[in-house]
Amino acid sequence: MDTDYADLRDAVAKLCTRYPGPYWRALDRDSAYPSEFVYELTQAGWLSLLIPDEFGGSGLPLSAAAAVLEEIQRQGCNAGACHAQMYTMGTLLRHGSDAQKAEYLPKIAAGELRLQAFGVTEPTSGTDTGALKTTAVRDGDEFVVNGQKVWTSRAEHSDLMLLLARTTPLADGMKKTAGLSVLLVDMRTARDQGLSIRPIRTMMNHATTEVFFDNLRVPAANLIGEEGRGFRYILSGMNAERILIAAECIGDAKWFLEKSVGYANERQVFGRAIAQNQGVQFPIARAYANMRAAELMVQDALRRFDAGDNPGAEANMAKLLAADASFEAANACIQTHGGFGFAEEYDIERKFRETRLYQVAPISTNLILSYLAEHVLGMPRSY
Ligand SMILES: Cc1cc2nc3c(=O)[nH]c(=O)nc-3n(C[C@H](O)[C@H](O)[C@H](O)COP(=O)(O)OP(=O)(O)OC[C@H]3O[C@@H](n4cnc5c(N)ncnc54)[C@H](O)[C@@H]3O)c2cc1C
Repeated sequence: MDTDYADLRDAVAKLCTRYPGPYWRALDRDSAYPSEFVYELTQAGWLSLLIPDEFGGSGLPLSAAAAVLEEIQRQGCNAGACHAQMYTMGTLLRHGSDAQKAEYLPKIAAGELRLQAFGVTEPTSGTDTGALKTTAVRDGDEFVVNGQKVWTSRAEHSDLMLLLARTTPLADGMKKTAGLSVLLVDMRTARDQGLSIRPIRTMMNHATTEVFFDNLRVPAANLIGEEGRGFRYILSGMNAERILIAAECIGDAKWFLEKSVGYANERQVFGRAIAQNQGVQFPIARAYANMRAAELMVQDALRRFDAGDNPGAEANMAKLLAADASFEAANACIQTHGGFGFAEEYDIERKFRETRLYQVAPISTNLILSYLAEHVLGMPRSY
């Protein structure tokens, strides 16, 4: 396969043509999940690209997954419904026991099990993960979980959840991020036994939820890695997530730019195409330049990641720049379309709402800037 993954991109684009704007608009209106779309991606094997061959996946590098996600967005579809199925398993793959990997990874690769719920964020602690309040207390062969998560996306469409909970109470002098552990929660059984899920309606269709734990018992065998080291395990997967989301933003930006150019060349006002006006051209041209610059950063992050590094700085910069570029392109696209940019049937307002998310999640722009200031530039931690 060539390094641009041209064949893979073509195959993804072909699948996406079966899911045009009206499909996404109808789901958006009803806050419904794109089950058919996700099913087809699963059947094609694209959501298990990153799972090693020995567990039934394709064992491809992150750049292949990025190509798939970018292409989905570029075609006007939305990978947010299932992108986490690609990378959430990374924590299990890197830190799970041999028995856990043998039990779960082949089923995830085959699409029999969905592991695409990730319970980290809580209502009171927000970005300050070390302050989370959900507890998991050891009781014999089980942990008893109590607490609440928020923004747990796809929880209603996942069989398993990767949960970060406090297993050791915070004591004086203890690092805030110590004493947290990762548990694999089987939501198929948990839902009647102490786990409840409440959907949150949002400005875009993202299947996100609040999850409540009320004395939920989770087998101790479902602890991933060592007790108390969970924060580190979760962090280790975040660079992959940020790079993949950045690739999605590049796909979004390309979709917006293509729409903008097409419409500007076609739309006649004052007897000539609006594209003839520099006031219309320039925002599109600038958005294009910024998209290309962000794309280079995504490629650099991918190259480093695929070579075996864990490139925190590049992953964060890729996410920051790509999310900015996609929103700039979205804004230019609405402006180019005038009133029609707001009409549902053009899909621009939907994609505009969808791509706005990525300046906040999975990590907000400010926190990336703080990371760069502190860890790359050597300035003091500001919080
Ligand atoms: C649709 C959606 C889906 C999501 N899916 C998931 C999921 O599946 N699993 C999951 O665990 N989480 C998920 N999240 C949560 C997401 O990761 C958080 O919303 C995000 O990290 C920001 O945290 P917060 O909302 O608590 O904002 P807060 O931490 O309350 O921050 C609010 C604002 O203040 C700024 N801020 C906070 N502290 C500082 C500081 N020290 N310096 C400068 N600025 C600061 C932030 O940048 C932000 O703009 C999702 C969120 C959304 C909206």
